Amino acid sequence: MIHLLVSVKQVPDTTNIRIDPETGSMIRKGVPAILNPYDAHAVASAAEWKKKLGGKLTVVTMGPPAAEEALQECIEMGADRAVLVSDRAFAGSDTLATSYVLAEAIRKIDQEDHVDMVFFGKQAIDGDTAQVGPGVAIRLGLPLVTYAVEIQDINEEEGYALIIRKTESGKEIIKTKLPAALTAEKAIADIPYAALPDLITSLKYKPEVWSAQEPVAYDVAQIGLEGSPTMVAKSGSPEAHEPAETISVEENGLAGAVETALGKMLSNTSVAALLEDQQ
Ligand SMILES: Cc1cc2nc3c(=O)[nH]c(=O)nc-3n(C[C@H](O)[C@H](O)[C@H](O)COP(=O)(O)OP(=O)(O)OC[C@H]3O[C@@H](n4cnc5c(N)ncnc54)[C@H](O)[C@@H]3O)c2cc1C
Repeated sequence: MIHLLVSVKQVPDTTNIRIDPETGSMIRKGVPAILNPYDAHAVASAAEWKKKLGGKLTVVTMGPPAAEEALQECIEMGADRAVLVSDRAFAGSDTLATSYVLAEAIRKIDQEDHVDMVFFGKQAIDGDTAQVGPGVAIRLGLPLVTYAVEIQDINEEEGYALIIRKTESGKEIIKTKLPAALTAEKAIADIPYAALPDLITSLKYKPEVWSAQEPVAYDVAQIGLEGSPTMVAKSGSPEAHEPAETISVEENGLAGAVETALGKMLSNTSVAALLEDQQ
């Protein structure tokens, strides 16, 4: 029986994010929390494969108690088990510490029930570093396929998976041995409507809550602020730009519009100098 695991993060809905101009930090108060969109697609993909092959789907998150909601959403999508790794000692963890916490949690789950594939989102829409998936994979010694857009096959018997990944110039088909890890693009699977039995299960489901001591005894030097060598020196919002000018082809005709646009560009001294350099 296949055992798939997805590492998910609850994030603030970034369409609503505001930065405090005084402190430069994100204003979280009143901002709704959602399941990171890439992670939702990763869960949908893992749920599809669980259904196809038969087996088990586990989800894990590190976060505050409220992250339980994100896990319940995963149960709604077909996950069987959810683990919330939550402790004040983890507060202030950067990507290095987060990867350590998640890797040890996944190692523990794997010892109880062998995990064949670990899914991550491509990136979290708040932190945006895309470091946690690779960070966990390297700690667990798993081969990693990034930017996965399609899983063509998971062959448990022969111990391999065929995964298509996006590259800058096209696509690659990667054959990897199992166990393996991947980071998912949204294209990996569509998010389905919840099946009624899964919806009912999710309403009653309570995730397991793991602390910094139990069932994994974390090394305090590797978690929280102490285990986080990076720091955010400054953050803020980009300056708002003047809206671009529109030169209408309808009003000026094509030649007229091009001439007006060129005239404006050449009156801009830096563009004119650039064009001169090119000649
Ligand atoms: C320099 C720096 C300093 C920071 N300092 C602080 C700080 O002081 N306090 C603080 O609260 N935060 C801090 N953070 C944010 C914190 O490190 C990140 O929230 C966390 O490590 C995840 O990184 P990310 O959001 O970039 O995720 P990414 O690496 O972009 O996420 C990729 C994937 O990894 C998985 N994933 C990521 N996070 C989790 C999680 N928590 N649980 C389960 N799966 C996960 C998901 O599948 C996700 O799609 C800091 C970040 C940086 C870069």
